[in-house]
Amino acid sequence: MDTSTDPIWDCIVVGGGAAGLSAALVLGRARRRTLVVDAGRQSNRVAEGMGGLLGHDGLPPAALYATGWQELAAYPSVELRTGHVRRGERRGDGPFVLELDDGSRQASLRVVLAAGMDYDYRRPDLPGMAERWGRSVFHCPFCHGWEVRDRALGVLDRGPTGVRRALLLRMWSDDVTLLADGPAELGAEQRERLRSAGIAVDERPVVGLRGPGDTVTAVVFADGDERPCGGLLVAVTLRQRSELAEQLGAVAAPPGPVAADAVEVDPTGQTSVPGLFAAGDLTGRMPSVANAIASGSAAAAGVVHSLADELLHAPQRAPARA
Ligand SMILES: Cc1cc2nc3c(=O)[nH]c(=O)nc-3n(C[C@H](O)[C@H](O)[C@H](O)COP(=O)(O)OP(=O)(O)OC[C@H]3O[C@@H](n4cnc5c(N)ncnc54)[C@H](O)[C@@H]3O)c2cc1C
Repeated sequence: MDTSTDPIWDCIVVGGGAAGLSAALVLGRARRRTLVVDAGRQSNRVAEGMGGLLGHDGLPPAALYATGWQELAAYPSVELRTGHVRRGERRGDGPFVLELDDGSRQASLRVVLAAGMDYDYRRPDLPGMAERWGRSVFHCPFCHGWEVRDRALGVLDRGPTGVRRALLLRMWSDDVTLLADGPAELGAEQRERLRSAGIAVDERPVVGLRGPGDTVTAVVFADGDERPCGGLLVAVTLRQRSELAEQLGAVAAPPGPVAADAVEVDPTGQTSVPGLFAAGDLTGRMPSVANAIASGSAAAAGVVHSLADELLHAPQRAPARA
């Protein structure tokens, strides 16, 4: 990739979800020349509402993003672009250069990666799941448990984390079934734990969901039988959407309970590459809008501090200001 482009931006924010827009707001208020490039596929777009976000509990996600764009329009140093960052690189200590899908190359002193994780979080795919995803079928009880409280609930988890998920979901309902979708790999002790918490284990293969619209009322088994279910928690593993972080040289964190390949960051959002910051789902925090907003804000403050630090070492260079 040709890197001859002048560094016109203080910071490029890749992604305009909760993390990226939050970062851009802080950067705009700090008068930093900021480009936000967003492909518009925030992971929670399909959800009915955002559960657990203070001040916006239950608000449809699209409304938050629209408000974010409106707020950013007040800051002249911030430009919002709909588009996709295809590639990125940095040569030595030079600026980062990102190639957009409009063919342009944008050079920047700093980058905040806020591109989220793989759309749909690689949820299991069963007939009837897509239309209920983010509603009566969910990956996070903190986000959606309240809406299905006290119903007969299911936990679809084929792996060893099923016990933990089922016990967690008991906080929302007395009627929880672990759907192992085949022979469950459970020891006697785990089975006893589930039994004493009043959690049933059903090991029949699950082939689909039933219910009107985006509501689930039953899970359907391969033998044709059905089990009442008013909410289904499914196991997911978050993965990077693209190779951008890798192309820019960021080290991945070891696989954790949430994400398989999160970008490693320090508390300010700084990655292993100086000047490259990351925020939101892509950093492997518990995925929530509140966490994404907080980490975007922290990363942007980290960017501004790092730009100010440069003035310490090169005081003859006055900060550009929009
Ligand atoms: C179905 C579902 C329901 C959820 N419900 C809740 C809830 O009720 N409450 C809650 O707190 N949390 C909820 N979450 C979690 C929460 O939505 C996420 O943790 C949070 O929104 C992550 O924000 P983000 O900015 O990191 O990523 P995202 O919101 O995924 O945004 C990333 C953005 O970057 C863009 N992008 C990606 N790659 C590029 C690229 N190369 N170039 C340009 N743009 C790019 C994407 O298109 C997207 O617009 C839910 C998640 C899901 C999947």
